[in-house]
Amino acid sequence: KMEVKDKFEGFWRLSKLGVEVDKDPGKDFLGVSHALLEQIAKVASLLPAEAFTVVRKSFDARKLLKTPKFVYTVDMNVEKLLSSEPRLWDFISEMEPKVGLVEHIPQEKAVGDLFSLLNDCKKDLEGTVAGDADSHCNIPSHKPKVAVVGSGPAGLFATLVLGELGADVTLIERGQPVEQRGRDIGALVVRRIIQSESNFCFGEGGAGTWSDGKLVTRIGKNSDSVQAVLRTLVHFGAPRSILVDGKPHLGTDRLVPLLRSFRQHLQALGVTIKFGTRVDDLLVEGATIKGVKVSDVTKNPPIHSQELSYDAVVLAVGHSARDVYQMLLSHNVGLVPKDFAIGLRVEHPQQLINSIQYAALAAEVQGGRGKVPVADYKIANYLSGEGAESSYSSASRGCYSFCMCPGGQVVLTSTNPSELCINGMSFSRRSSKWANSALVVTVSSKDFESLNFHGALAGVDFQRELEQRAAVMGGGNFVVPVQTVTDFLEERTSGMCLPQSSYRLGVKASNLHELFPAHLTKALQDSILMFEKELPGFISKEALLHGVETRTSSPVQIPRNSTTFESTNLNGLYPVGEGAGFAGGIVSAAVDGLYAGFAAAKNLGLITADI
Ligand code: FAD
Repeated sequence: KMEVKDKFEGFWRLSKLGVEVDKDPGKDFLGVSHALLEQIAKVASLLPAEAFTVVRKSFDARKLLKTPKFVYTVDMNVEKLLSSEPRLWDFISEMEPKVGLVEHIPQEKAVGDLFSLLNDCKKDLEGTVAGDADSHCNIPSHKPKVAVVGSGPAGLFATLVLGELGADVTLIERGQPVEQRGRDIGALVVRRIIQSESNFCFGEGGAGTWSDGKLVTRIGKNSDSVQAVLRTLVHFGAPRSILVDGKPHLGTDRLVPLLRSFRQHLQALGVTIKFGTRVDDLLVEGATIKGVKVSDVTKNPPIHSQELSYDAVVLAVGHSARDVYQMLLSHNVGLVPKDFAIGLRVEHPQQLINSIQYAALAAEVQGGRGKVPVADYKIANYLSGEGAESSYSSASRGCYSFCMCPGGQVVLTSTNPSELCINGMSFSRRSSKWANSALVVTVSSKDFESLNFHGALAGVDFQRELEQRAAVMGGGNFVVPVQTVTDFLEERTSGMCLPQSSYRLGVKASNLHELFPAHLTKALQDSILMFEKELPGFISKEALLHGVETRTSSPVQIPRNSTTFESTNLNGLYPVGEGAGFAGGIVSAAVDGLYAGFAAAKNLGLITADI
């Protein structure tokens, strides 16, 4: 027995445990069900549920599976298991061949908890100061003053870290708090009145507030930094299911109260929050930032040019703040063009996507209230720039679906009336009758140059040109140009009889195949034909393409030092998040803000260790 004990102490992570839909308690149940125990071993009556913790639950409806399943990853605590039932030694020693994938974890996996980490940092610093009067760490003699510009996920997490670690932080946001922002968005959707500073892109929570609130990221769900972000969101009111769900998502209705409680926490820490305040310029001396120039944009015309001094400025302005890029160039802050993606947003009836993905099981979706999740998809196609396919121009490129919003709606993400661009959002239930997703193709400097766009902001100019063309195609007033997928493929105008759209400000039949340069249209058309092979029924008269999707990620990067996070041109400036080209999506922007917050805290002498 001792040998077995040595081998099996600690924790075991059991993966790929499938439970059939009719035996599973359903998508919202995250505990250890009887059916799951049965899967872990065929000795369910002996297994105590408290010895197991569900760490991941996903729904798998891939067509190669005979029966769709919920797929679990479970951690088993050997000590708890044995204390309740010593006879389980036999079960443990035979377990390996029974469950497909088993990983031994000698100690419980550390989970990223931001607040404990912040507390440790604070204790560490107190210890250093108290224990070593001659310490070489540069403990500041005054509270460093930091401006964080932008209250999107990057700005909020940088503010949280710096505020907790004792900096005197001012969070400056051009848009409005969520309460007023909600009213401004309402006026846009109902009365077509756009507020240039408070809309789907600008305002508390940043671009991700009126969004689908998907919390998926390519960084890796189990990395400490992602777990730290997700746990912090739970602390501020997100459901615990986001820690376990394979495809966590919140929806706008959950994001709004979460942001309110995030704000209250920051205010309790002593952070000053200035809404309706836009940073128009930087105060620079030599190669060092000294502060910012702001204007009060709640007044019409805005009241300009208050100068505010800071020791450091975290720039987390997102990638719709094109005025900020221009302003940075005037200070010779280097900007580097970056590849991004452009395309169209396709919308299908959600029922059609449910049937394509789930076949007969589609009935179980029940508008988001059923046992199985509302169906989504993720499709991608690689287009070679070589040989016969060279009609895509010489560049190889990817074409893929992006930011899929099942049970969602198409929304306007323009910040002024002469430019038209769109995105998708949803509520937590994902109960609308539509499924939308961006279908985009990657573009690079080669594309911009061939269209005569040059310089650091060539990508921004290309985006703007497409958005202006889309606004003209729609005929103004935020009406969106649309074309059915079949007509886009056949390059003909859709007739008057368009399928319904979730977009609230009106759609107009247009020749979307003429919106892009021909090689990009061809890349999209060929990829749609490929997607049909993967999702038969995707090409349908009911599938409506909306133009234009341009703001998938930042078209520029603001170079920074990889350790200190400071701009390579300007000391004390910390470019972070999506606008700086270091993130794409809510969670990765939050992670970048978090690391930047720690890096700035270290540079300002608030902590001694690198995080
Ligand atoms: P942002 O969120 O863009 O925040 C920047 C903030 O800076 C804004 O609030 C802006 O008002 C402020 N600002 C800009 N300029 C100034 C200035 N000069 N002075 C003061 N303040 C300024 N991502 C996902 O991961 N999942 C999703 O489901 C998802 N859905 C989306 C739906 C929509 C409609 C949109 C528009 C985006 C969606 N995204 C989604 C993308 C996601 O929102 C962004 O990747 C993320 O918000 C980027 O975070 P950020 O903090 O870097 O910048």
